Amino acid sequence: KNIPKNILITGGAGFIGSHVVRRFVSQYKSYNVFNLDVLTYAGNLENLKDIEQAPNYTFIKGDISDSNYISSLFQKQMFDAVVHLAAESHVDRSITDPMSFVKTNVLGTVNLLNSSVQLAKENPDFLFYHISTDEVYGSLGKDGFFTEKTAYDPNSPYSASKASSDHFVRAYGETYGLPYIISNCSNNYGPNQFPEKLIPLFINNIIQNKPLPVYGDGNYTRDWLNVKDHARAIDLIFHKGRKGETYNVGGFNERKNIELTKLLCRLMDKKLHREEGTSEKLITFVKDRPGHDLRYAIDATKIKQELGWEPSVTFEEGLENTINWYFDNKEWLDNVTSGDYLEYYKKQYQV
Ligand code: NAD
Repeated sequence: KNIPKNILITGGAGFIGSHVVRRFVSQYKSYNVFNLDVLTYAGNLENLKDIEQAPNYTFIKGDISDSNYISSLFQKQMFDAVVHLAAESHVDRSITDPMSFVKTNVLGTVNLLNSSVQLAKENPDFLFYHISTDEVYGSLGKDGFFTEKTAYDPNSPYSASKASSDHFVRAYGETYGLPYIISNCSNNYGPNQFPEKLIPLFINNIIQNKPLPVYGDGNYTRDWLNVKDHARAIDLIFHKGRKGETYNVGGFNERKNIELTKLLCRLMDKKLHREEGTSEKLITFVKDRPGHDLRYAIDATKIKQELGWEPSVTFEEGLENTINWYFDNKEWLDNVTSGDYLEYYKKQYQV
């Protein structure tokens, strides 16, 4: 069996992508890892400073939604596999600007698929590995879990665009015989996450004594997974997963937003040597997001049984490490929260 050599990772300058790129570059020295990223507001090469000089790493700046560009890139470089993470990823932004989600998440994915089909014809070991979200399954009530067999029922423009991309991947498998794997993961948290997503947003706001905008009554429930555990799952699925299969990845760690916020507040009070209860005073309930899904919860039995994967980081430990990372990387946080971010923040949260 050929060992895959040239691996294209898309979206590698983003939050999850940077952890995946680092893992592949440092653990698989025989691979040439290519990181294709257009560097939107969410893409940041600072995330990869520690490995940018590695001999098996190449950064390529480019847009997956540009079909001519993608086909010429794939003609120039014979990739053995694609690990596809590039996406517009923030639900709130998808509500104000759905078209950019269609462009990157749907058209961009189809461009990559078209070029991958060509490569797969010449290389039976080719793999297209598509990274997706549990949000494609819609919302759960109080009980139950999403399994790999749960019907798709997306509610936001973000989840609809991801659902669409998942369908295209599967359809290219069925129609053109493209070898693929899909994984659908729950909410990630950890170092390098852009502070528009709940955990880094709240860490940053607590540092700055700004209100913590909690949607609705705070009872929305999400399953949280540490990004390093997700990167490990991606590595495992990439190497050991069965082609043509979907794997759900989750943290076995459901939290109501309000519970999570209170836990974060307690940990931040400790970190900032503030009296307990200080940060909680910043909690402000804000008008609900339209189409807001009540609860997501993943049944990750398949990946556990087939591939032996389980989360390794507890939530409390992971949150503390994440807080420490944002404190140790003040410059990173200051850089990404200047300029455009302030405009976005003003528009998004009128608190
Ligand atoms: P992110 O927004 O932090 O990063 C996305 C990256 O994609 C950025 O570096 C951005 O510059 C790049 N990108 C965007 N449009 C592009 C384009 N047209 N061409 C090339 N590059 C482009 O996102 P993330 O949170 O790291 O998510 C990565 C992937 O994982 C996404 O596909 C997302 O749907 C999926 N996912 C995320 C979560 C989560 O909790 N964050 C959970 C499950 C699945």
